[in-house]
Amino acid sequence: MSQHAIKVPKQPGPGKAGSNTGKQPFFAPAGVQAHQRAFAFEPAKKLSPAPGSMLQRDPPELLEPDLLENPYVLSDEQLVAVRDRVLGPLRRHDGTGFTTRIRSLSATEASALLDDEAFWREIRPIFRGRALWAVYTILYFNNRLREPDLRLSVNFRANDPYGFMDALSIVVQEIRPRQYYEILREAAAYEFSGSPQRNQILSMISQRNAPGAVERLAVSTRQVHYEENEAGDQELHLYGRQVRRMTVYETGGQLRVVLRIRFISAANPRQSYYFFPDPATPERWRAAIERYWNGKFILDNGVKRLRFTVAPLFYYESGPAVDKEVSIMEDDELSCPHSSDPGRANAGCWFTQSSDETVAHEFGHLLGAADEYNLPGSIAEIPADIRSQLTAEDLEFTTMEGITGRRRRKREGGYDISSLMGSHSRSTDVKARHIRLLVRNINGRLPDGTPHYRIIEL
Ligand SMILES: [Zn+2]
Repeated sequence: MSQHAIKVPKQPGPGKAGSNTGKQPFFAPAGVQAHQRAFAFEPAKKLSPAPGSMLQRDPPELLEPDLLENPYVLSDEQLVAVRDRVLGPLRRHDGTGFTTRIRSLSATEASALLDDEAFWREIRPIFRGRALWAVYTILYFNNRLREPDLRLSVNFRANDPYGFMDALSIVVQEIRPRQYYEILREAAAYEFSGSPQRNQILSMISQRNAPGAVERLAVSTRQVHYEENEAGDQELHLYGRQVRRMTVYETGGQLRVVLRIRFISAANPRQSYYFFPDPATPERWRAAIERYWNGKFILDNGVKRLRFTVAPLFYYESGPAVDKEVSIMEDDELSCPHSSDPGRANAGCWFTQSSDETVAHEFGHLLGAADEYNLPGSIAEIPADIRSQLTAEDLEFTTMEGITGRRRRKREGGYDISSLMGSHSRSTDVKARHIRLLVRNINGRLPDGTPHYRIIEL
C-alpha cells in the first residue's frame, strides 16, 4: 500500500519579496499551512515514501508505526474515494456539482488531488484555459485565493494581457511549485491565443527566473524645503529618508514599473480601507496616475527603446506584501498623521477628496521624485548640520542649484519650479529628473558592457 503524503514545507509562511531563487521547491499551499498551524501542538513529520514506492530512499524500518494515523495522509482507498466523489458529478456532466465538491475539500484532500495523476488525466481533456486554472487554484489554495494570485486570475478573466503580466511580475517573487507554472502556461497559451501579447506572456512565464527578468528596485531619497515653523517663520525642513520600492520588468517595448499600494484606514492603521464614499475614487486615481506618468518618457540606450510605463496596483486587504501603505483620510478638515496642515496629502496619506493632480504628484514621490517647491537656491544655503545628512544625489534634486545647474541667492520661502512635483495648482509636466534615480538604479543593474539608458522626454 502506498501513502499519498502532503509535502510538508520546511519553512511555512508567505514567500518574501526578492526570494526568487531560481529554484521551485514544492511548498504546501497556504491552506495546508493554515491547517498545519491549527495543529501546531503536533509537529509536522517529515514523511518517508512507503515501501515499494519508486521514490523510496529510506529503508522501510524507518517508517514510524503511527504514520498510518497521520491526519495529512490519505490511504489509496481514501484517495480513490475522494477522486470519485469529486469527479462523480463531472462524469454526469454536472459542472456545478463538480465545482461545489472541489470547493468543499479539506486541505489534505485538495493537496492529495493536486498530486494525483489519475485525477488530472480525467480533468485535462475537459478543462482548458481559465477553467483549468480555476480548478488548479481552487485545489492549490484550498479556496483561499488571495493577492497576488487573485489578481492574476482576475486578469485572466478580464483577458487583459498587461494586467496579467503585471500580476505575474509580483507572483514570480513568491514561491510556487513547478506544477503551478506548468498549468498557468498551458492555460495562458489557450486563453491569450488571439492576443498579440501571447508570446510575451508565455516567455515571461518560462523566463521568470532568468537574471533581470523581473527586478526589485529600491530608490533612496531625502529632501528639504522651506515650511512655516510654529513662530510663523520660513524654516528649512529636513524630511526623513524614504526608500521607495517597486518591481520593474520589460515586455513588448515597454519598461513597466509595478507599484503595489495598500489603502489603510487613517483612523485605524491596522485595518485596510475598502469602502470609499465614492466607490469610483480608486479607479479615478489609477487612471490619473497613468495619464500623468505614461506616454511621457522613452528610455533609449542605442540598442533598445522602451516606453516608460507605470502600473499602480491597489490592494484592499491586509496580509500580502505591498510596496507602500497609504492612509486614507475622509475628512479634509483633519490632518494626515505627523502633519499639522488640514487637508494636505503626502506620499503616505491621501484624502478621499484628493484631486487627480495631487494623487499623481504623491505617486511621483513613490517613484523617487522630490518636491519642487520652497527649494533652497543653493547648496551652500543649507545649514551644515542638515547638509551633512544629504547625499550628493539628494542635493541634485532638492535645490535650485542641483536642478538647474545655477546657484540662486537665498530667498524667503525658497523657489518654486513649474512641474507636477512643484506646487500642485500650476504645471503638471513630468520631467526626466523625476525618474532619474529610478533609471540610474536600472542602469546600475545592467550586465557589464550594456549601454546605459538615457531618458527622452516626449
Ligand atoms: Zn510632495
